[in-house]
Amino acid sequence: MKFKFTCDICNKQVKRGDKFRIESDQYDDDSTLYGEFGAMACKACHTKVITHINSIKTDAAAAA
Ligand SMILES: [Zn+2]
Repeated sequence: MKFKFTCDICNKQVKRGDKFRIESDQYDDDSTLYGEFGAMACKACHTKVITHINSIKTDAAAAA
């Protein structure tokens, strides 16, 4: 499905594109989450975030 929205990260107006949600929440207990961060993201920003997370993982694995 294609969406019309504004990306929360780059503020770009997407006329007809893929829409992603990036969330980072803190656990209150095993089943409850606190909303810490939530953003609607375009495909380009989503790809950047995923690439960045993967590079952190790679760096962490190399440092371990
Ligand atoms: Zn974006």
